[in-house]
Amino acid sequence: MPQQKNHSFDVIVVGSGASGGWACKLLAEAGLKVALLEAGRPQSDKNFTEHKPEFELEYRNKTTELIRKTRPIQVKFGVCNEYTYDWFVNDLEEPYTTPADKPFNWMGRLRMTGGRTNVWGRVSLRFSDWDFKSASQDGYGEDWPLSYKDIEPYYDLVEKYVGITGSAEGLEHLPDGQFQPPVPLTCQETLFRNRVKEKLGRIVMPTRSANLTKPLNGRGSCHFCGPCERGCVTHSYFNSAFTTVADALASGNCTLISNAMAYKVLMDPERNRARGILYVERNTRHTREIHARAVILCAQSQESVRILLNSATPQYSNGLANSSGVLGHYLTAHVRSGGGSGEFPAFGAKPSLGGPVKPLGIYIARFRNLPNTPSYKKFLRGFGYEGESSTEFNWTAPGFGESYKKALLEPRASLDITGFGEVLPRWDNFVELDPHVKDVYGIPVLKIHMSDGENERAMIQDMGDSAGEMLEAAGAKNIRTYAHPSAPRWALHEAGMARMGVDPQKSVLNQFQQAHDIKNLFVMDASGFTSNPCQNPTLTIMALCVRSCDYLMSELKRNAI
Ligand SMILES: Cc1cc2nc3c(=O)[nH]c(=O)nc-3n(C[C@H](O)[C@H](O)[C@H](O)COP(=O)(O)OP(=O)(O)OC[C@H]3O[C@@H](n4cnc5c(N)ncnc54)[C@H](O)[C@@H]3O)c2cc1C
Ligand code: SF4
Repeated sequence: MPQQKNHSFDVIVVGSGASGGWACKLLAEAGLKVALLEAGRPQSDKNFTEHKPEFELEYRNKTTELIRKTRPIQVKFGVCNEYTYDWFVNDLEEPYTTPADKPFNWMGRLRMTGGRTNVWGRVSLRFSDWDFKSASQDGYGEDWPLSYKDIEPYYDLVEKYVGITGSAEGLEHLPDGQFQPPVPLTCQETLFRNRVKEKLGRIVMPTRSANLTKPLNGRGSCHFCGPCERGCVTHSYFNSAFTTVADALASGNCTLISNAMAYKVLMDPERNRARGILYVERNTRHTREIHARAVILCAQSQESVRILLNSATPQYSNGLANSSGVLGHYLTAHVRSGGGSGEFPAFGAKPSLGGPVKPLGIYIARFRNLPNTPSYKKFLRGFGYEGESSTEFNWTAPGFGESYKKALLEPRASLDITGFGEVLPRWDNFVELDPHVKDVYGIPVLKIHMSDGENERAMIQDMGDSAGEMLEAAGAKNIRTYAHPSAPRWALHEAGMARMGVDPQKSVLNQFQQAHDIKNLFVMDASGFTSNPCQNPTLTIMALCVRSCDYLMSELKRNAI
């Protein structure tokens, strides 16, 4: 990749994942000179292993203990495995801390072009005004400084480019989008959907997912090989490395600077403007400066907030753009430790070790605290479920020899569902710099304070109970449900900490993710989320980023920043 340093650019974008990819694509295609600083290595189709069987791996993918030596946190989520572990941060080199009584697993920290979109689960759902204006509905927290109609055209634009498979359901609280044809449900999923609708009135649908069912912009449709999190040579799921970032580079206006760990935003204190970024070259440990007219942080929410906290100046002594004092606070992340599973008839399906694998299953739309329904007494807001079905060999069949072989072939069809619940934004869920710990690049690290409150605990319990209720309604056998407290707390959908708002005394960013305090500084990842509804965040991260880039370009054009 061409590398360019100490140059002046129009815009610096930090991070090449879901948000950074879009920012680069839009700005570079519009003719602006963009520097893309990415802490990780370049990604390439050569790294993709979705068709490689485990027996071709040196350790047959049985290396959890080995990976734990360098990535004790990352390995806790299965997508960090022998195939992909070196895409992830080395937890020992780039640690974070927590209070002893509030453990938090910060997983999914990628160090590759594409960031988390390399390995994400691809579930792509719109928010609605029921989410953007939730504070007005139930009196908790703050409304977002924008409404559904402001973001709707950007959802359309993003969905058409990304390629989202899904079905229109006509739900006010989960708006339909620009869908590619849905992936059909399995027999078990269809039975579950019909019975849950009939008996409980709840809506089960094919997962809305960033997997192509029709070719798009040179990307092939999904051929159902299964492990998207190991890459995809046909580019059939959405990964910013081979979509938005590739487009930005093809424009000739974007320079990707890999292995560049942004440390802080450089300021011109006289003019109260961001001048650029100070970063550390990961391979040489040299520090470099890069300058531009505007700076956009897209490093993933905790990482971007860490950069702002590390950029404190005499004028902004508790973190850059933090005159409100709320920077770092209101960390939210979904709870997902309630759900259940059950067994269903196989309907003639035969188990197979080499057959097609559907990379997505079902989604159950939120059914608590909805428009025009009485509020649910036990908690505020709500949760949805992700689920999938499978038909497996009967591995645990009793017996030996011939009788075991016969019993093994008896198919075991099951369906499991996991709740994803909204976490209320609370002041005391926050991040700060740990004054005693630095990473190997000499950059102070975050201390993360996060725990469940009463609302989350009640919601998790309901996730387990309602899973049981739905599986029973569908006629499942051997139903198992769970509802654990989420300790250690963990998440892959973190948001908040530099929240958007109308009032600069209560928020860090305005509705265009522009710092209230510094006009040429933007944070376009999920840091700006005013709340974190139960729908997965990334579609909204991307749509907001496109909207904010439109605003940034118009402001640059009229020399307003
Ligand atoms: C296993 C997994 C499953 C998920 N499933 C879903 C799902 O189904 N649906 C959904 O909506 N979301 C899902 N997510 C979340 C989704 O991936 C993120 O919301 C999204 O990628 C965030 O986009 P981002 O641009 O903020 O950050 P990222 O995509 O993480 O990109 C950030 C980039 O910034 C770089 N970076 C970090 N710090 C620095 C620095 N200091 N200097 C320079 N570069 C830096 C990183 O290397 C990274 O490449 C999942 C995540 C994971 C890990
Ligand atoms: S299942 Fe589809 S999207 Fe996933 S890796 Fe295979 S072809 Fe690509």
